[in-house]
Amino acid sequence: MENLYNYTRAELERKLTEEGFKAFNARQLFEWVYKKKETDPKNMTNLSKRLRTYLEANLSVETLKVFTAQKASDGTRKYLFALEDDYLIEAVLMRHAYGKSLCVTTQVGCNIGCSFCASGLKKKDRDLKASEMVAQLMMVEQLEDTRISHVVLMGTGEPFDNYDNCMRFIDIINDPYGLEIGARHITVSTSGIVPRIYDFADRDKQVNLAISLHAHDNATRSRLMPINDAYPIEKLMEAVRHYVEKTNRRVTFEYLLLGGVNDSLSDADKLSNLLRGLNCYVNLIPYNSVSEFDYDTSPTETRNAFYKRLIKRGINATLREEKGADIDAACGQLRINKES
Ligand code: SAH
Ligand code: SF4
Repeated sequence: MENLYNYTRAELERKLTEEGFKAFNARQLFEWVYKKKETDPKNMTNLSKRLRTYLEANLSVETLKVFTAQKASDGTRKYLFALEDDYLIEAVLMRHAYGKSLCVTTQVGCNIGCSFCASGLKKKDRDLKASEMVAQLMMVEQLEDTRISHVVLMGTGEPFDNYDNCMRFIDIINDPYGLEIGARHITVSTSGIVPRIYDFADRDKQVNLAISLHAHDNATRSRLMPINDAYPIEKLMEAVRHYVEKTNRRVTFEYLLLGGVNDSLSDADKLSNLLRGLNCYVNLIPYNSVSEFDYDTSPTETRNAFYKRLIKRGINATLREEKGADIDAACGQLRINKES
């Protein structure tokens, strides 16, 4: 049995025509599965008997086992799912004024090992398949009986360390005959794997790119994110400038405010200098404390002052509010302690 959620519509067309079916059958199948949420071929009434029999014998859809589901006071929901091989992954549904977004996990664990991140505490066990990312969306939509309008690849894992599967996932959920999540409603967040930023710039899609920057100087950034030794700030910024020029898209920088580490007004000034003239905005993130590390969250006043300084210096910025903090559900806060 192959998994339908791994197929882009173009690939499904190819597969079905090779088997003697019509190309438009792929579109019909996408509509059944993703739009009408009907996964049993028996009920796909506009498909031929032969195709339904073929589907029953050859294609299935991924289902994840719900291990736990938690609800935070602000309505954020964290699902812990078990994969086929029993690894546990998390997906977080957040409610916003503009709709609902799902924070999707892309790998079991993460090899980048940032010194503030709970996900990086555990080495990567394996990459997720596209179908396992699609399944997170399908499962949450069904369990919540809701429609997800935005997707962020910001759960556990480094999307650019699982590039092909993540791009396949994006193509599948973006398909107009499928879930139809607009490219501008999808955001990929990377710790800064430079070669993949160039690859991403070559893709003909309007998917948002977010770069986890977190520091304006190499010494601090290397301390926070060891990936900076391989791809230091100069190389990263060169790649980001290329991306912005090539795609005409605005890039987002995520900047985690860590008390006494990178949150002074002088840091804000230096960050402004680094980003001046670039079509970007900075998303200031409050640090969700992780018990294994002794970083501090910047106090609210410090965060506000940092934000105001960036604005004064002409840098677009937002101060991200914490979502689901009471259940450790904020993105990047996906705990290895599965009992929590
Ligand atoms: N690996 C990718 C995407 C997953 S992490 C990346 O690093 O960009 C998503 C975001 O959560 C990143 O910006 C990351 O730096 C941030 N993050 C990690 N740990 C965090 C924590 N304890 N508190 C707040 N944000 C955190
Ligand atoms: Fe991996 Fe991102 Fe966490 Fe760094 S912040 S360890 S890249 S998930």
